[in-house]
Amino acid sequence: SANITALKALVRTVPDFPKPGILFYDITTLLKDRTGFAMLIDELAAHYLERKIDLVLGIEARGFIFGPALAYRLNAGFVPVRKPRKLPAPVARVTYDLEYGSDTLEIHRDAIQPGQRVLLVDDLLATGGTMEATIKLVEELGGRIAGLAFAVELDFLRGRERFPNHDVFSLLHYD
Ligand code: IMP
Repeated sequence: SANITALKALVRTVPDFPKPGILFYDITTLLKDRTGFAMLIDELAAHYLERKIDLVLGIEARGFIFGPALAYRLNAGFVPVRKPRKLPAPVARVTYDLEYGSDTLEIHRDAIQPGQRVLLVDDLLATGGTMEATIKLVEELGGRIAGLAFAVELDFLRGRERFPNHDVFSLLHYD
């Protein structure tokens, strides 16, 4: 649609960031545009308005930008999934493989009550490794995953193929 084309035009691509050969999709240029940011949140929220979302869960760091705006719009609570040693109360932890090395994410053990309907949000879906790890945390706590939401999806990396049993929704697709 015209809206999607306009939003895509607001995402900046930066070659060779964070390292040579990587084309980085930079959403800060969309965020600073008042019309674009509102449109992005409204279009994402529209997909979930009828789905009774209890909690929106955002992944540090850029999931903290979209997650709370979406939670407010959906009248849901917000739960942060954080890098290690940031959360003060007892946590569940998951470690997952990266191209080089590994990464860890944590969530407060009492952040989700069993059976709550949780929407998982990040800025961008690439290989899906980050979201796959986050799903394990939510499942450990007994949350019901109502959907996986992204502002941007890099279709050519086929990350969504990791999630055949979940509703994966991204607004802006790049091939
Ligand atoms: P994945 O785990 O391979 O799906 O990578 C997704 C994670 O890496 C997300 O948390 C993104 O914020 C980050 N990421 C990967 N590529 C990009 C990019 O081009 N722009 C912004 N973030 C990216």
